[in-house]
Amino acid sequence: MNFNISVMKGDGIGPEIAREGIKILNTIGEKFNHKFNYIEVYVGGCAIDRFDTPLPEETIEKVLKTDALFFSSVGGPKWENLPHDKKPEAGLLGIRKTLGAFANLRPAKVFNELIDASTLKREIIRDIDIMVVRELTSGIYFGKPKGVFNLPNKDKIGINTLSYKKSEIERIVRLAFDIAKKRRKKVTSIDKANVLESSQLWRDTANEISKDYTDVELNHMYVDNAAMQLVRYPKQFDVIVAGNIFGDILSDEASMLTGSIGMLPSASVGGSVGMFEPIHGSAPDIVGKNIANPIAQIESAAMMLRYGLNRELEAQTIERAVESVLKQGYRTPDIMSAGEKQVNTQKMGDLVAKAIIEA
Ligand code: NAD
Repeated sequence: MNFNISVMKGDGIGPEIAREGIKILNTIGEKFNHKFNYIEVYVGGCAIDRFDTPLPEETIEKVLKTDALFFSSVGGPKWENLPHDKKPEAGLLGIRKTLGAFANLRPAKVFNELIDASTLKREIIRDIDIMVVRELTSGIYFGKPKGVFNLPNKDKIGINTLSYKKSEIERIVRLAFDIAKKRRKKVTSIDKANVLESSQLWRDTANEISKDYTDVELNHMYVDNAAMQLVRYPKQFDVIVAGNIFGDILSDEASMLTGSIGMLPSASVGGSVGMFEPIHGSAPDIVGKNIANPIAQIESAAMMLRYGLNRELEAQTIERAVESVLKQGYRTPDIMSAGEKQVNTQKMGDLVAKAIIEA
């Protein structure tokens, strides 16, 4: 098949890891007889340098014509002192908003070979494989009224509004069930229904949707309990679905279970074009040294194949190849431990590509 992919290599280590991601896509292309056409686009610092804006119109136009956006990372000290709306991060938020993605998918998977990178005990985190599905476009970050207002008695009040429409809850919960169907068939829906009306609607809606998915188990958990359960017994979770703010906090907590930021991908889907990127930033402290871990970017390619291009087998082939390279003891410096074989960014990409070919 033919796929048009916009590629945003970005700032800092972005170009170094994007190169390895593309290497892997090309290898998948060869093995499965696909052709990936790459359209380079610019967001963030690299766009500021070229176009004097963090999100050029040209980028938006190009991305909207493609099947998926393969994104690296943006930002760095060079652009730190610009006003907020001119900063690289404004480009990142802008592109996510433009694409209208309402769901952020954040897997937290422990590779048993890297189990000691976590701050938690081995027996707690062994084999965890969680997918956090976070609602992205509504909830307290967007609800109105919002702002800081003067009160008549000279005091001030800061207001944010946590609101959800039923339709917004339905689409995110449905997506979580669809994902769970392809996994271990369990959805944990997060809310605070004991005190919040919007959460009660969330819970009632999740119950309604679950009737269409009789093969998937649904359970509900208050957000405070979920924060605790994630470190107490994370293996109980398969898919976690949550509103914007609860999902924001829990997805960061879940990702830290694995202890290695250079390994974790993410996807923003549900809009016109899906966006697939590592969760980490541009790592200015290691840029240009060829030591960045490319696995988060490579796993983002796997997510793009699964959730953006509907190619499950190809996605699994990448994930298995990464596992096999780790099993053989190869590590970039960020995940290195005694007795393993240290490799650089490029070599890690080569090894994963080789494992794909040999699979
Ligand atoms: P960061 O994620 O870039 O780095 C945090 C630490 O993790 C650093 O020590 C870095 O070297 C290390 N690290 C990150 N990715 C790694 C990898 N693939 N391999 C090995 N080590 C890795 O976060 P930060 O330092 O807080 O931010 C740096 C810049 O990135 C800032 O400008 C920030 O705004 C931006 N940022 C961008 C995104 C994004 O593009 N989505 C996300 C977070 C931060």
